[in-house]
Amino acid sequence: MTSIKKSKYNWNMVVFLTLIPIIGIIGTAIYVYYNGVVWQEPVIMFTLWFLSGMGITMGYHRLFAHKAYKTNVFVEWILMILGSTAFENTVLKWSSDHRKHHTEAETENDPYSITEGFWHAHIGWILKNTPAEKNKIKGVKDLEKKSAIIFQNKYYFHIGILVGVIFPLIIGFTYGRPLGAVLWGAFLRITLVHHATFFINSLCHYVGGRTYDFTSTARDSWFVSLFTFGEGYHNYHHKFQWDYRNGIKWFAFDPSKWIIKALSYVGITYDLKVAQDHLIWESKINSLKAQLNERLQDSSANIKSAYNDRLNSLNIKAKGIIESWKNMEIKYLKDKDNFSSKMIEKFQNDKIKYQNELKSIFRNFKAILSNVKKNRVSTSLINS
Ligand SMILES: [Zn+2]
Ligand SMILES: [Zn+2]
Repeated sequence: MTSIKKSKYNWNMVVFLTLIPIIGIIGTAIYVYYNGVVWQEPVIMFTLWFLSGMGITMGYHRLFAHKAYKTNVFVEWILMILGSTAFENTVLKWSSDHRKHHTEAETENDPYSITEGFWHAHIGWILKNTPAEKNKIKGVKDLEKKSAIIFQNKYYFHIGILVGVIFPLIIGFTYGRPLGAVLWGAFLRITLVHHATFFINSLCHYVGGRTYDFTSTARDSWFVSLFTFGEGYHNYHHKFQWDYRNGIKWFAFDPSKWIIKALSYVGITYDLKVAQDHLIWESKINSLKAQLNERLQDSSANIKSAYNDRLNSLNIKAKGIIESWKNMEIKYLKDKDNFSSKMIEKFQNDKIKYQNELKSIFRNFKAILSNVKKNRVSTSLINS
């Protein structure tokens, strides 16, 4: 039996994703060389980069794919339109791929699994011909009935061209440099938004800390957050994918989080999902323990036995605190309407107490890990 062998690559995609950065970077550079720059050009580029980026992070990713918060239909439409200008496919395809990336991370069903290499996770998966079964849109029934998504399924490319390319062209005509506006506002801007998104799938599964889940390949990278509107805190995101935040510390650069939160004050966004503090602490301690166990496996018998008792007692202590904290939260959620102000005050104080105790245990685990790495026995740590 003979069969026509399908090419490994989707050549339309190869041409599309090669021409855009070539025109965007080299084309813009040549244009600047001969025509200079006017202030409108970087302004158009940064504004449209920000808007299309927000369409992806606030819209495609956190709203549609993860349902990390809710908003009204009007905002859904705005985010769908802005996301279309990033040319990263429709919400349905994007969300289907992304949900598989989370639920089946690092397996062969993960469309951009890092286990197939940096290049595959970055862009290779889009350039290759994916088997039809694997490419199928799945697990997005909840999104299919939304009016913005029904409309986008019919006119995705038209919206992208109209708002993402023709719109900057028209602006360019108003000050007499339409070509410059398209080079800066469309080609260069799309190149940036594309590769910023791609870096989350490649670089954020490659370098950075694993504070919340040591077993995951996803990493936290403040650096990637700077050009992805906050999406670089990817280890946290893989652990608590439904949380509307990616960078949870108040100073963590996460403009998507800030905007979602700001809009909640005026009721435009609501039902913002947040991981509870005790769950975050539990994940932090478990991740550190996993890292420590891995280190200890390669350590000498002397090191293992030196820290054994101390680690056991820290473990028991941490488990006990997390258990008490969890029970307290359950009780509060069940019965909060009947809580007196005194009970609420006690609840808040206990929270702070548990948090401080876990912080201290965490610091101890960290100090032990640092000593194990140096192959050193610290008597103060064993006896404290
Ligand atoms: Zn990921
Ligand atoms: Zn995600």
